[in-house]
Amino acid sequence: MKISWKTLLLLSLPIVVAGFFLWQGLLEPTTQTISNNITSSRMTYGRFLEYLNMGWVKKVDLYDNAHTAIIEAVGPELGNRVQRIKVELPANAPELITKLRESKVDIDAHPLKSSGAIWSLIGNLLFPLILLGGLALILRRSSTSSSGPGQAMSFGKSRALFQMEAQTGVVFDDVAGVEEAKEEFQEVVTFLKQPETFTAVGARIPKGVLLLGPPGTGKTLLAKAIAGEASVPFFSISGSEFVEMFVGVGASRVRDLFKKAKENAPCIIFIDEIDAVGRQRGTGIGGGNDEREQTLNQLLTEMDGFEGNTGIIVIAATNRPDVLDSALLRPGRFDRQVMVNIPDFNGRKAILQVHAKNKKLNPEVSLEVVARRTPGFSGADLANLLNESAILTARRRKNLISMNEIDASIDRVVAGMQGTPLIDSKSKRLIAYHEVGHAIIGTLLEKHDPVQKITLIPRGQARGLTWFIPSEDNSLISRSQIISQITAALGGRAAEQVVFGEPEVTTGASNDLQQVTSMARQMVTRFGMSTIGPLSLESEDRNPFLGRSINTGSKYSDQVAINIDQQIHKIIDHCYRTAIKIIIDNRVVIDRLVDMLVEEETIDGSQFREIVSEYTDLPSKPNYISQLSISE
Ligand code: ADP
Ligand code: MG
Ligand code: ZN
Repeated sequence: MKISWKTLLLLSLPIVVAGFFLWQGLLEPTTQTISNNITSSRMTYGRFLEYLNMGWVKKVDLYDNAHTAIIEAVGPELGNRVQRIKVELPANAPELITKLRESKVDIDAHPLKSSGAIWSLIGNLLFPLILLGGLALILRRSSTSSSGPGQAMSFGKSRALFQMEAQTGVVFDDVAGVEEAKEEFQEVVTFLKQPETFTAVGARIPKGVLLLGPPGTGKTLLAKAIAGEASVPFFSISGSEFVEMFVGVGASRVRDLFKKAKENAPCIIFIDEIDAVGRQRGTGIGGGNDEREQTLNQLLTEMDGFEGNTGIIVIAATNRPDVLDSALLRPGRFDRQVMVNIPDFNGRKAILQVHAKNKKLNPEVSLEVVARRTPGFSGADLANLLNESAILTARRRKNLISMNEIDASIDRVVAGMQGTPLIDSKSKRLIAYHEVGHAIIGTLLEKHDPVQKITLIPRGQARGLTWFIPSEDNSLISRSQIISQITAALGGRAAEQVVFGEPEVTTGASNDLQQVTSMARQMVTRFGMSTIGPLSLESEDRNPFLGRSINTGSKYSDQVAINIDQQIHKIIDHCYRTAIKIIIDNRVVIDRLVDMLVEEETIDGSQFREIVSEYTDLPSKPNYISQLSISE
């Protein structure tokens, strides 16, 4: 665990400050009170003025900022004896002093009780003392704790920000679903443990391994696992920490890092986000970043400078391999590259199993079902999902995580926070028709994923949602599957139009239409699924981790562009007709489902199918096939 002293300071500051006020609060009241034991008799201010006029007042002692006075007076009422009497003075009586002077009364003003004043002085001095003492303690704490084994340590000497873990405590079993990468790394572990086996036959041990993959897939975890398995120290620094505003600091950090590593060899040096330093040199606005180039040069020099058998292996991670400087990828540097991808179904199941180990799951929870519902989730997403479910379980004061909490967490991760449902109104009915439209088409069309549930409880941007169960990880999708998906996605708008009429259709379908258009366009331009033929017209050289496509301009004639548009129209038009037909044909069951949905807000997939099957055959004997032959 690494806690910097800055965080400790920040954490402790409010406590110390609160302590200060408490302290002051304890001290102040004692300074305010005047010892009442001097006298028990009291006199009103008016009576006091009368006494003054009569010349009976001998002496006035003012206390408490002239709010109280103890007077010494003689008078017939007092039995002609000098008595001490307490008088409360009004807040604003400046003329009193003048009057007292005129009457030649002995006046004396007393400051706040002296012992109180001393205490308050001590209190004021004590606060900074406590603060300083606390600071010293924190500093000492953090410097002593860092020398223990297995602790993170920052090297103060050289402004370096890298961390060293003597033992990461992570093993390969903690990393799941990335079997190929693990195999590759098993070898690296052997290099570190028994280098002789390799050097004996003249093999050069690789110096660097580059881990490529999207965020959250376990790259950092894998690097730690290598160090853990080989029981060697783990030095880590992130690329963005290398690049600092001050010239030369990045380069000197690299030097320090390698120096320290050599002293501790065999070991692992892990450079996270290497793309921050390892970017193609000489690029960027204004001819590139000098500082970054120096850092990168230093890194390359260091990597060239140590022999393959010194027992240092540099592992770097990035999700932007496309921007890396080619010099980094040359043999003798990061000559091994390992891809870590978003896990597939089996990978997700394995990762869920790893993270379920320390969670209390209800025995009825099937991690297989969870894995099936979470395509596209990374390892970090899955870990987070189980954690969210555990938090939700605790909040519901249950002691076992059930499928219910896991489902709610998935919904939240995928679609956003849950909102409050609408009250029954025309717009609620319209949303219900829209969602039932999606669901019924998804159910009645062959080759469509089954409905998991329909709900009118808003989430994120959506005011209603139809969830489908992705049947398997389809890396290959057939043309008829895409056609079915387009048709079901148009089902919402189709239902609005059939039920409420063209003038009443809403903007609610805009997201659906976006998806539909994009799918149709890809059919034509990338998958060769239209009359234009098997051509790739828009080579979307989409990098799997960039997420965004860089369209490198069209490589076809205007004539082809017109043709593409026509094809897209044709596909969407065909699908929309099918959708309208299915809605009209099944209007009776749709009305019943909408009533039910408005009433209950959520309909489960199996319940939905059961009701639909009372009216029509389900597509085990498909009754609607969205046919559109390529040559049409
Ligand atoms: P990356 O470095 O690729 O962005 P991390 O290694 O930091 O991802 O992963 C973050 C967390 O997600 C890990 O600490 C771990 O809890 C979880 N995680 C990610 N991938 C896996 C995996 N393959 N197996 C088990 N846990 C994983
Ligand atoms: Mg990472
Ligand atoms: Zn919709």
